[in-house]
Amino acid sequence: MINEKMRQLGRERSAIRELFEYGNARAQEIGRENVFDFSLGNPSIPAPACVEQEIKRLLSDLPPKVLHGYTSAAGDAQVRDSVANYISDASGVPMDGDHVYMTCGAAASLTIALKALCEKDDEFVVIAPYFPEYRVFIENAGGMVRVARADGRFRLDMGALDRAITEKTKAVIINSPNNPAGTVYGENELKELAALLNKKSAQKGAPIFLIADEPYRELTYGAKVPYPAAYYRDTIVCYSFSKSLSLAGERIGYIAVPPQSAHADDVFAAVCGAGRSLGYVCAPALFQRVCAACLGKSGDIAQYRENRDLLYNALRSFGYECVEPEGAFYLFVKSPLPDAKVFCERAKKFELLLVPSDSFGVEGYVRISYCVKRETIERSLPAFEKLIRTCR
Ligand code: PLP
Repeated sequence: MINEKMRQLGRERSAIRELFEYGNARAQEIGRENVFDFSLGNPSIPAPACVEQEIKRLLSDLPPKVLHGYTSAAGDAQVRDSVANYISDASGVPMDGDHVYMTCGAAASLTIALKALCEKDDEFVVIAPYFPEYRVFIENAGGMVRVARADGRFRLDMGALDRAITEKTKAVIINSPNNPAGTVYGENELKELAALLNKKSAQKGAPIFLIADEPYRELTYGAKVPYPAAYYRDTIVCYSFSKSLSLAGERIGYIAVPPQSAHADDVFAAVCGAGRSLGYVCAPALFQRVCAACLGKSGDIAQYRENRDLLYNALRSFGYECVEPEGAFYLFVKSPLPDAKVFCERAKKFELLLVPSDSFGVEGYVRISYCVKRETIERSLPAFEKLIRTCR
């Protein structure tokens, strides 16, 4: 009667969303200020000033038909050119507007890119811990997920990648700055990855693509975020403005296929075809234009840095084990109990809402989203301290 797989997906709900809903219900009972909800990666800082300025300017300058009307399926031509020029200038990788496709955020960028690439029996390698929706997107495209574990400090493990990449691999997905670990892959790591992908592509006799999922590119605390496309030719960039511009609800991002990458014109045509078949044409018109005026900008990320420092230092002093995040707004903490799910259930008794790592493809950790008000972290610290004492 209906698609069983879709029914299951809809019923299952993500562990993160489930916790978020629980937090809302709990806030009704005991007051929002008494619930320490670290579940969702919903940006907590205001969008940078350029967003409001540009919205106002567009509202007054553009005729309604242009302002709210359809753009071309791949996006407004000027916007696509601006995105391409920005990427070329920032990365040194030549890019043109004819190879940029505007999307409804990174989720759409990934869904479209995967659909564009995937053929029967293709495998896609993800690095654990990974963003849980990768599995949903890959399987929906008809692909198989292959997992390569990151190393103990959540950096790329070339041995694990070497073992995971086979003749069936169509692409490897990387995400830097990383959700959930906060890792930023450095130049040397990307060079090693490029060498491995070149070797594996030669063995396969066909290009293995690198999908760079980059919604957190601008959110770093000192670390430089190299452009993977500057190191590996066959890179497809999946970007979103959700986190950098605090526009998660506006659903806006892009896919960029470097024109010099393998079969670039065909890959881009397949991106357009996948966008069409999935109904992801003409990303929100107003926000395409707003974002084109705010490329490379972000809100005041000093607030995220303060949150990171406060939380990281306090949790370490209480005895929690974690690696200091270099970017994004998540802290990935070793669960003091062997079973992270049991630990997260216990955390709820202290009104701490933490996400167990199981859905990220590894066991024994919890993710804490620190894109919250500083007061929330300050008020939550006694609860974290009491919680770890119950685990000793
Ligand atoms: N990729 C990663 C690693 C993410 O963390 C997220 C959202 O949290 C997405 C993709 C999806 O981003 P968007 O909200 O722009 O669709």
